[in-house]
This record gives sequence, C-alpha cells and structure tokens, in this order.
Amino acid sequence: MRSLVFRNAAVPDRLRCLLPRSSAKVRAQPPRLPEWEEFPSLVPETLHEMSEDEELTQLHADVIARGQLALTEKEDTIRREMLDRLGVASFAATCAEAGVTPLRRAPASILQLNIGLYCNQACRHCHVESSPKRTEMMSHEVARRCIELLDSSSTVETLDLTGGAPELCPEFAYLVKEATARGVQVIDRCNLTVLVEPGQEGLAGFLAENKVRVVASLPCYSKENVDSQRGGGVFARSIRGLQLLNEVGYGVPGSGLTLDLVYNPGGVFLAPPSSSLECAYKDELKEAYGITFNSLLCLNNMPIKRWSDELVRMGKLDEYMELLVGAFNPAAAEGLMCRATVSIGWSGEIYDCDFNQQLGLAVSGPARTVFDLGSLDELNDNRIVVASHCWGCTAGNGSGCQGGLDA
Ligand code: SF4
Ligand code: SF4
Repeated sequence: MRSLVFRNAAVPDRLRCLLPRSSAKVRAQPPRLPEWEEFPSLVPETLHEMSEDEELTQLHADVIARGQLALTEKEDTIRREMLDRLGVASFAATCAEAGVTPLRRAPASILQLNIGLYCNQACRHCHVESSPKRTEMMSHEVARRCIELLDSSSTVETLDLTGGAPELCPEFAYLVKEATARGVQVIDRCNLTVLVEPGQEGLAGFLAENKVRVVASLPCYSKENVDSQRGGGVFARSIRGLQLLNEVGYGVPGSGLTLDLVYNPGGVFLAPPSSSLECAYKDELKEAYGITFNSLLCLNNMPIKRWSDELVRMGKLDEYMELLVGAFNPAAAEGLMCRATVSIGWSGEIYDCDFNQQLGLAVSGPARTVFDLGSLDELNDNRIVVASHCWGCTAGNGSGCQGGLDA
C-alpha cells in the first residue's frame, strides 16, 4: 500500500499554510478582527456569493427541480463506470478479500441526527448541499421520537447533532437538554460562524452549560484557504467564534469542555495523519489569536455532492477515485463509523451514516423511519449498505465522524 507518512520536508505547496511557524520565511501580521457587534449576519454575503456562482445556482435549481435522489443516482453511475474502467472490484468485495470483519451493524453507541439543511454558509465541498436556501428542518415530533429511542436503546452513549448548521434548527436546544439530562454526551458539529450570527449571542454559554463537545470545521489557519473553501467572511467569524468558545472554557485545560477542530483537504489529495498537523494548528492559532483547542481531526473529502461536482468540473474525478482506491486500508475498514452509528435524517429516515443519508441509501431491513422502530437495538446485525463512495472512508488513515485512525 502507498505510504501516507506526512513529513514537513515533503509538504506539497497546497499545504504550505500548514507548516509550523519556524518554517515560514516571513510572518504576516494577523488581521485585526472586528468585535462581535461589527459582524453582520453571514447570510446575505453567502447568498450574494451563491448568486455570482453559476454552478452553485444551477446546482440548487437542479436539486429543487429533480430532487436529490435523481442527482445522486447520476453521480453514482459516473463513479461506478469510472471504477469499472479502472478494473476496481466493488468496495464490499475488496473488504471481504482483505479479510475485513463482515460489514454488519454492531450495537449503536452513537445516534447521529441531521436536524436541518439550513446553513448560513455554502461551502464548496459540502456533502449535504447546505446553504441559506435550504429550508428542511427536523420537526418537534421527530425530535421527540429520537429522544424516546435514546430511552429505549441500551447502548447509545453519544448524541451527535449535525446539519446544515444544527444550532439554527429550533429543535437544537430541546435535543441538547433532553440528552444531557439522560447522561448522554452531546456533540455539536459547529461551523463556528454561527456563534456570531445575530440572535446566537447566548450559544457559547448554552453549549458550556450543557457540557456539549464541540467539533468545529476549520480547514486551515490561513484566511485565504478558509475563505476560498468556505466563503468570504468565514475566516474572521470562525476565529471570533473560537475565541468566544475559549472565553467560556472550551479547549482550556481542566475545564472539562472539549473543543476539537476538523481539517479537510482543499484539493485532490488525502488528509494527512492528524499528528502531523495538530502542532502547527496549535502554534499558529495560539500565537496569532490566543486560541487553544483539544484535538485536530483530519478527514478526507468524500467523493459525493459538491466535491464530486467540482472533481468532475476539474476533470479529476478519476484521479481522486484512483487515489482513494490505491490507499485502501483494511484497518480503517475495521473501524468504519457505520458499524456503530445510526444516522437519522431531518424527517426521521434511518441510515447507516450521514453520507448514505445524503445519497438516499436507506438502511437494510424493514424499518424506514424512527416511527417504525421500538428500539435502535432492532438494527443490530443488519447488513451495512455500501457503494462506490465508501472508498473515501477507508483511504489512508480512514475518515469518519470521529476522525482518522490516529485521531
Ligand atoms: S460544510 Fe457545513 S458549514 Fe459548510 S455549507 Fe455544509 S453544513 Fe454548512
Ligand atoms: S460511506 Fe458510510 S456506509 Fe460507506 S463505509 Fe463510509 S461510513 Fe460506511
């Protein structure tokens, strides 16, 4: 298997921004950040950028006109034809041949809820196709049913809330409080900019009060890279969001409040091991902005949705798929998140993972929604539904919601 060891001496140009400070020739002055009151909502800026981006506008129109499922089928056909041309066996066959434990569900330890597709950002790699134009949100009825499933299921320890921007869903606070009251650890998958959106002034304090673990996206510590991947104005707001989290104790040793950051590549390459980037992130963020955090999770970009579209546009989908397949790691396949996670969509459908959810690939077995289940235990031992996108989870260090193998 291809060696994925990542050393500074061999860092490609696209990752130069992630070198430790001592490697940089000249250190630019960190930009002055506006105070909270100076940040207007990011939504108008995101909508403006979307309106200027013909591809995103067209994509949104296609999603509305043809539905996610039709687009997903087209995407899967392109990937499968490409893998056939490369002579690659199916993902399931490759796992079996490598002696990986059969791809069947274990008792769930994580219940992940995608509680809404609305987001104040519209990132270029978003696998959920989120933006301020998406209005789908989890209802209270579905949220309450998910809490009932927490009560009836014997093994779930974590409630993982994602979106869109989950904090902007009206059910967010209800879910956090109910799960916390039951001794279940809550994870908030936070885009950071939401912390400075008007109306979210109490969010950092609320998260701290409920000891929510915050897992936040920050694909680089340079403004240029973050803004080009996630949209203009995102970097400054993300930095202020991190400072607000630090102010209430997140990422501060001894506070018991965990703040993890997520890196994902900004190009056609795999995420390096987190151990090779974490120090650089910590040094840069501490020195430039006084920010501290706990751990860095490094994730690959999945070859689906906006990232897949971008690869097709660049003519690089085959290169990326070849990269993923060539870096297949049986150890990562053993630890796939779909083995012990149940993923629920905003309207209550059940999936093996958030990626399958966005592709409309329902779990195997008769249950389709949370209202068909008496307990999550009923899903135990079901066959996991895998397809051509799954190579993204087993490349290199692997890539799941909890990070790669070395996270
Ligand atoms: S990647 Fe996250 S922050 Fe960006 S548009 Fe998608 S849901 Fe929003
Ligand atoms: S995409 Fe989902 S189902 Fe496929 S391997 Fe990854 S976690 Fe499992």
